[in-house]
Amino acid sequence: MCDDMYDGFEPYGTNDFDAGLSDDAFESYDELPLDQRILQDYPAPFDTGALYDLYSDCALCPRACHVNRNAGELGYCGASAKVHVARAALHYWEEPPISGDSGSGTVFFAHCQLQCVYCQNAQISRPHIDPEKNAWLKVNVSAQDLAQMFLNLESEGANNINLVSATQYTPTVVDALHIARSRGLKVPIVYNTGGYETVETLRLYNGLVDVYLADFKHYNSDAAKRYAHAPDYPRVVLKALDEMVAQTGAPEYEDLATGETIMTHGTIVRHLLLPGRGDEAERIVSYLGTEFGSRIVVSLMSQYIPLVNSDKYPEISMPVDSVDYDNLVDHACLFDFDECFIQDSDSADTGYIPDFSGQGLIGSPS
Ligand code: SF4
Repeated sequence: MCDDMYDGFEPYGTNDFDAGLSDDAFESYDELPLDQRILQDYPAPFDTGALYDLYSDCALCPRACHVNRNAGELGYCGASAKVHVARAALHYWEEPPISGDSGSGTVFFAHCQLQCVYCQNAQISRPHIDPEKNAWLKVNVSAQDLAQMFLNLESEGANNINLVSATQYTPTVVDALHIARSRGLKVPIVYNTGGYETVETLRLYNGLVDVYLADFKHYNSDAAKRYAHAPDYPRVVLKALDEMVAQTGAPEYEDLATGETIMTHGTIVRHLLLPGRGDEAERIVSYLGTEFGSRIVVSLMSQYIPLVNSDKYPEISMPVDSVDYDNLVDHACLFDFDECFIQDSDSADTGYIPDFSGQGLIGSPS
């Protein structure tokens, strides 16, 4: 096994912004109070009206449904312009430089643009979520609410704010990030995504997101069509990863007073090995090693749980073969990754799927 692999991480894996500041208002950046220094590090005030207009003709993800979500129309993902959050809580099972010991301040958003048949968070990711079984669906979360949730997580000790599947709510999330920074949020922002992203939407996060935690699910278009209903996934994810790495640069870390070492900038690319798909996984690792090498961190996941319809997808209705996983890890050793995280063999356990019952939620009746 390579020396630089960490074995054993647990699975899982404003515009009051302007606040009177202007570029020439201060003699010295270092003389500013800390919260105002944070403000200067983030993009200039923006037109939130234009931002929220993006819901009116939605092309926030590659599905480009062009529905008017502000008028209540729903696209492929099933999300309206009302933001729904299933859980906002400390999470301890991401990669070590994300969770650390104190936990990652993870915010799980409802719905998803991908709809993978093997999704472990299917309770909250499907277009149709049962409001009787998921009371949090009856809560509408505004940008102000979301910003307060971020600040609450930080005060609970979160090492970062970890936005899980936020793409469909990008206008509100971007607004909330500006609000939270203007109110003193200091921890890094992690954007946790399935990798099916447009470059245009990612650019709305430029300067706001510090760490991308992105899946690279499929290299093969037929597999992407069968398992994620997105035959264009391979083409899309390659461009998206280029944009993410361009935004974050190479991995950077900070040693905290608590003794934890946390990633402050960079891109972690995850691949979840599926049963019988070792060859595709090796092609993904080869691409990442050749294209990015030490500019990214790679995370090879063995936590696949066969939650699929076994009649329809018999070929992936079993656990991953440990020999396939070991071969994938050996393959990764051929490349110059900055770090490569691997998982224990007991990671595939439904006990690691979070409880989605609206923890940490702030909002008003929907
Ligand atoms: S975010 Fe949802 S509604 Fe918008 S383009 Fe994507 S799938 Fe369609």
